[in-house]
Amino acid sequence: MNLIAQLRDALGEAAVRTGPDIPARNRTDAAAEVVVEPLALVLPRSTAEVAAVLALCHAAGQPVVPQGGMTGLVDASRPVPGEIAISLERMSGVEEVDPVSGTITALAGTLLEVIQKAAEAAGMMIGIDLGARGSCTVGGNVATNAGGNFRPALWHDPRQCQGTRGGAGRWPRGAVEREDDQEQHRL
Ligand SMILES: Cc1cc2nc3c(=O)[nH]c(=O)nc-3n(C[C@H](O)[C@H](O)[C@H](O)COP(=O)(O)OP(=O)(O)OC[C@H]3O[C@@H](n4cnc5c(N)ncnc54)[C@H](O)[C@@H]3O)c2cc1C
Repeated sequence: MNLIAQLRDALGEAAVRTGPDIPARNRTDAAAEVVVEPLALVLPRSTAEVAAVLALCHAAGQPVVPQGGMTGLVDASRPVPGEIAISLERMSGVEEVDPVSGTITALAGTLLEVIQKAAEAAGMMIGIDLGARGSCTVGGNVATNAGGNFRPALWHDPRQCQGTRGGAGRWPRGAVEREDDQEQHRL
């Protein structure tokens, strides 16, 4: 079975798109300078699915590129020819707001603005804000260590971010494969 078939087997047909079924947004970032069709676009729904995709791709020696809100302006989320794009767009949502510990747990594909509003509703404030807040995801924010308007603490400061769920800021080989939905991924 080839890799695309293996990915479809693991995640279902609808979660692995190829050719014209890949939307324009997954072919370039906000700078839109270069447009490349990835070998496939994979849309996992859980950390376990991200882990399964990475395990299959690692086994096949297949390069991948994670994608969040595609608001980066330096081509980092745009695939290079032959790469498989893994978009976290289906992994969105705030799982827990805990005013006692002052923490928010959210999936990697959650928009920054959604997290800001969840914090506000609980009388808290997240110390990061940027113009792309309505389009960028927390996974992308952590990965790029995005700062923006306040910057009292960057994402890679453990006081700001204790981990990400379902797609970490860094994806070293073997790291995400060991995770399941109940665990957090230390940066
Ligand atoms: C109007 C505007 C204003 C901006 N202002 C600022 C600013 O003030 N400060 C600033 O730092 N940046 C700023 N940016 C840049 C951009 O918004 C940030 O870099 C943002 O953090 C990217 O998030 P994203 O979800 O769009 O990530 P993407 O653009 O999709 O990806 C960016 C990088 O992160 C990786 N990535 C994405 N998701 C994950 C994941 N779940 N796991 C692992 N890797 C992942 C991608 O592979 C890529 O390398 C701005 C952009 C725009 C368009």
